[in-house]
Amino acid sequence: KSGRRPLVAGNWKMNGLRASIAVVEAVRNGLTPELGESTDVLICPPSTLIASCVAAAYGSPIAIGGQNLHAKPSGAFTGSISAEMLADLGASYVIVGHSERRAYHHETDDGVHAKALAARRAGLCGIICVGETKEEREEGRTLDIVRAQLAIGVPKGASARDTVIAYEPVWAIGTGLTPTPADIAEVHASLREMLGQLIGAEAQAVRILYGGSVKPSNARELMAVENVDGALVGGASLVAEDFLGIARAYL
Ligand code: PEP
Repeated sequence: KSGRRPLVAGNWKMNGLRASIAVVEAVRNGLTPELGESTDVLICPPSTLIASCVAAAYGSPIAIGGQNLHAKPSGAFTGSISAEMLADLGASYVIVGHSERRAYHHETDDGVHAKALAARRAGLCGIICVGETKEEREEGRTLDIVRAQLAIGVPKGASARDTVIAYEPVWAIGTGLTPTPADIAEVHASLREMLGQLIGAEAQAVRILYGGSVKPSNARELMAVENVDGALVGGASLVAEDFLGIARAYL
């Protein structure tokens, strides 16, 4: 009804050895034509597995993405990976500003902005993550926090082709807790309104995902919320049947 094509994205985080390619193969085998036609499906494995996951997904509708990137195209940045390197491997998306990166690697909104620009430069779609902590929600600051993260993080001229937003309340990630559908609706409506201020009419085309303890059992209810255009899935994306169960929420 929104005209926006749903995106269900899996974030494997720092999980997966070579044997985990079997998860991509199982998702591929479970991806019916009906599902592939209705929903974009993305898997973001650790960088070490991107090339082999691209190979395993080849010829299927499954897209492969990175979990992080360095803003510079190349240079003396030991241990870092650029947008160009991800694109070179066949990745088409990259997660930017995940709350774990913000918490453990001191990523700032300005850094997120630079990385989102880098993603676009390399032809990748950046999934810009925003979300409040438990304390911020309890203080009633949720909308102020996520709107500020968006205002600084989203580059000028961002479009639906190069940008996806993910609302991920920090307290809902990996905890089994989720906001109520009404709370999610409030945040997503506010994010879309803020996006409108930033990029005008294009805001209507940009997908806004919900992330945080999405499971097959709650996916349908969460994905039915207005302005929720898909899911960013952590834990449940490691099990093909669970990930597929979430992807089927839009059928
Ligand atoms: C995430 O880390 O992006 C996430 C949503 O994790 P989980 O689904 O495990 O809560």
